[in-house]
Amino acid sequence: MSDTASSPTPQRVLVTGGNRGIGLAIARAFADAGDDVVVTYRSGEPPEGLQGVRCEVTDTASVDAAFDEAEQLLGGPVEVLVANAGITRDGLLMRMSDDDFDAVLQANLAGAFRCARRATKGMIRARKGRLIFISSVSGLTGAPGQANYSASKAGLVGLARSVARELGGRGITANVVAPGFIETDMTAALSQDVRDGYVATIPMRRFAQVEEVAGVVRFLASPAAGYVTGAVVPVDGGLGMGH
Ligand code: NDP
Repeated sequence: MSDTASSPTPQRVLVTGGNRGIGLAIARAFADAGDDVVVTYRSGEPPEGLQGVRCEVTDTASVDAAFDEAEQLLGGPVEVLVANAGITRDGLLMRMSDDDFDAVLQANLAGAFRCARRATKGMIRARKGRLIFISSVSGLTGAPGQANYSASKAGLVGLARSVARELGGRGITANVVAPGFIETDMTAALSQDVRDGYVATIPMRRFAQVEEVAGVVRFLASPAAGYVTGAVVPVDGGLGMGH
């Protein structure tokens, strides 16, 4: 399936944190294929050419209001949720504050939970839906300095698999995408030495483009993936193999 292949039937898609980075690439991939897309954004403006609603995923009222607004814009309930919004607050365990631990769990794990809970309202009624959670290779292998982040991203696997078991009978799938190193603003800030060190550990010997994550997300939302649920799909060039 190419990035430009159009969806057989346009779907109503919501991407959280879709104003930049990986979320924006995912939103653009769906929109380019003819799907109806709304992104959530927390700060600034919605991205050019896409519909946006403001949302703070750590706040249940904000999530519920954002879904109400998005479903107005989409003209119906969300059929595909991509829970992508996330943050890092890295630090060594001994020095990690309660606040840094809680903030990351709240945004990355509880935020995804709030969005999934709200999204499934319409999906259960429609007896179909796709939930796609953006995790990380760090959630599978662990990463020094990322106890909070890795715990939150591992938590998404338990969340998705529980929902997959609960709602599979209603035609709803729940899957996890676990990216490795992706070319984003964050990784652009790495020094060449650090970057070379990481690249040496990746079997594919390069970082990924955001579009390579978007392609896998689109596949999981497509009819071809109708029987795929509870899966963790790595997009990491082989970095996390075996986990
Ligand atoms: P960015 O930092 O570029 O974007 C994160 C997005 O999430 C932004 O839109 C941000 O909004 C939004 N966001 C963060 N916190 C909240 C919140 N509390 N409420 C609502 N929105 C929020 O991230 P990336 O594109 O790099 O990453 C996207 C996802 O992919 C994340 O979940 C990340 O953990 C994961 N990932 C990224 C990798 C990488 O190499 N970049 C590797 C593996 C996983 P705002 O613009 O307002 O800050």
